[in-house]
Amino acid sequence: MTDAAELRRRTRELLAAHPPATTERLDFLRARFDAGLAWVHYPQGLGGLGAPRALQAVVDAELAAESAPDNDPRRIGIGLGMAAPTILQYGTEEQKRRLLRPLWTGEEVWCQLFSEPGAGSDLAALGTRAVRSGDDWVVNGQKVWTSSAHLARWAILIARTDPDVPKHRGITYFVCDMTDPGVEVRPLRQITGEAEFNEVFLTDVRIPDSRRLGEVGDGWRVAQTTLNNERVAIGGTPIPREGGMIGKIAATWRERPELRTHDLHQRLLGLWVEAEVARLTGVRLRQQLAAGQPGPEGAGMKLNFARLNQEISGLEVELLGEEGLLYDDWTMRRPELVDFTGRDAGYRYLRSKGNSIEGGTSEVLLNIVAERVLGLPAEPRTDKDVAWKDLAR
Ligand SMILES: Cc1cc2nc3c(=O)[nH]c(=O)nc-3n(C[C@H](O)[C@H](O)[C@H](O)COP(=O)(O)OP(=O)(O)OC[C@H]3O[C@@H](n4cnc5c(N)ncnc54)[C@H](O)[C@@H]3O)c2cc1C
Repeated sequence: MTDAAELRRRTRELLAAHPPATTERLDFLRARFDAGLAWVHYPQGLGGLGAPRALQAVVDAELAAESAPDNDPRRIGIGLGMAAPTILQYGTEEQKRRLLRPLWTGEEVWCQLFSEPGAGSDLAALGTRAVRSGDDWVVNGQKVWTSSAHLARWAILIARTDPDVPKHRGITYFVCDMTDPGVEVRPLRQITGEAEFNEVFLTDVRIPDSRRLGEVGDGWRVAQTTLNNERVAIGGTPIPREGGMIGKIAATWRERPELRTHDLHQRLLGLWVEAEVARLTGVRLRQQLAAGQPGPEGAGMKLNFARLNQEISGLEVELLGEEGLLYDDWTMRRPELVDFTGRDAGYRYLRSKGNSIEGGTSEVLLNIVAERVLGLPAEPRTDKDVAWKDLAR
């Protein structure tokens, strides 16, 4: 059993063999992965040691104390938070060995080809087709809102392999090579002025059957692992006390006494307490995750994250008055990450609008909490037993 003392010992060994001050960043990250100190709860040989997930903090603290480089997790959130747990659960040994190391080090960025123009909340209605051709699948269709597609080497993709069965049953899950000549990525500009996401056109993209994750027709079940992890990844990211958006507004409050009013003070205190409750709930959720894959509880975290971000950024704009209406940069940029603390209040206000849409809209997450956490009666579903090809579109 790998305990905290053993992890400390191994981390010091890594630091001694690869001193951060004199080791190239990528070499250090690769060595860390090979030492099983990347994500300690992953199996041995795949960047971990099969240790309790909660002990990752021990490794991270030792490494931070020596100013060791990290893998810039905000830049590779889709890979770390969504692709990796799905590959770990459903991938073959060969897929795990090929894909997980460069995913963790950030050498290969991942994106998620799920949403389509006609399938967002009702994701199982998706129409992108994958047709078997020898050892390959040939994929045709269109995806949309694909964050980081312009940076990505790989995508997690769900496509329809059998239109003759009901929608949830005819889907298969693949790993798609974004460098295939049939993949075309076009930027989509957002309300912030940036183009974080894209529309992606897939024309005769060939995917070897060896890059299928899970069984043919079982893609909906595989996708649940991705989606449950996505909600935790978006809503449950660890932050320090008074970190993130609440930290920004608290700092403005302290530095700018001329902006203060009694009403704003009361509202700020209320949101500060809610942000702290959300943070502690995230800590508890991650402790529970130590035992396995997240279930629908992550939906509650993500719901609260979206609401709080929108309320805090709204209050910040109000606090700043006229200044809050200014915006630092309208040029269309292709950012590598969502930066809630590095930009100005206007950016936070506009970007947080997307929080209640990405990773499942708040309305849909409320349905999930109602049905799968609270056990309330399900929404009527009339299309459960109808073949996908016969559904009205
Ligand atoms: C910033 C951002 C990044 C994203 N990144 C990605 C990505 O990388 N990859 C990817 O695949 N997708 C991505 N998405 C897409 C996202 O998952 C979808 O936008 C989302 O699932 C909603 O789908 P839709 O846009 O088609 O809206 P629709 O499903 O058309 O919903 C429209 C409205 O109807 C409501 N609604 C729909 N069904 C119900 C219901 N049953 N009950 C109550 N209300 C309902 C919704 O809540 C919403 O208000 C991203 C979105 C955003 C905003």
